[in-house]
Amino acid sequence: MRKKIVAANWKMNLKLAEGAELVNDLYNTMPALSNNCNVVIAPPYTHLLQTATQLAVIDHVYLGAQNCHHESSGAYTGEISAGMLRSTEVDYVIIGHSERRQYFGEDNELLARKVNQVLSNSMNVIYCCGEPLEIRDAHTQNIYVEQQLKKGLFHLSAEQLIDVVIAYEPIWAIGTGRTATSTQAQDMHAHIRSVIADQYGADVAANISILYGGSCKPSNAAELFACADVDGGLIGGASLKADEFIGIISAMIKS
Ligand code: PEP
Repeated sequence: MRKKIVAANWKMNLKLAEGAELVNDLYNTMPALSNNCNVVIAPPYTHLLQTATQLAVIDHVYLGAQNCHHESSGAYTGEISAGMLRSTEVDYVIIGHSERRQYFGEDNELLARKVNQVLSNSMNVIYCCGEPLEIRDAHTQNIYVEQQLKKGLFHLSAEQLIDVVIAYEPIWAIGTGRTATSTQAQDMHAHIRSVIADQYGADVAANISILYGGSCKPSNAAELFACADVDGGLIGGASLKADEFIGIISAMIKS
């Protein structure tokens, strides 16, 4: 049975003390989770150790990171390797977020190397895909997302794919307040699952978690998570406020 997951992407927000306060507030109000209903929190690198300590006492809440380098070590000033992340108790690494693709020029080939680094260091990948507005307007989003999946993930074996979660994040919905409708989300999630089924078989496709991301809030989470192929969410802005993030987690638990 595939997992339901709600993952927080704090991006470049919150000072160390603010991050500690947010996790503390989450701890005090977190509803009961389970083996199949998990939460991931991905703070900035500087907060990882502190957050790891705080999360150690919260069941089924895992530590995430927002990126890693595509090499295992070396002269890459300012970069962080997957091995370093693992050594701070990170379990999930977000790879291929549209902001990394757009502002840092990360392409599918580079992302495939990052995926390999994460998996070879015994962590899980949250692989982001999603189309810009002009692709959606041209109705070519299915083929666009398919290419992102094929180039970034399809070099993996079926066994390796077990440690991968996919996040579909239409770029036009990220941080814009313009959420995809539940029909748009379901259509794309079903398409992603069918592309995985074609490559890896129906069993693998049925077991992979596919999260929706893009202006997800407590007010729209229940409708999105009710879709048959939506297994939770990757949450940006609404993950920075404890009450909003808890509202989204509660919607996942009820879905
Ligand atoms: C994101 O950046 O992954 C995201 C989904 O952001 P927001 O929820 O703010 O749209």
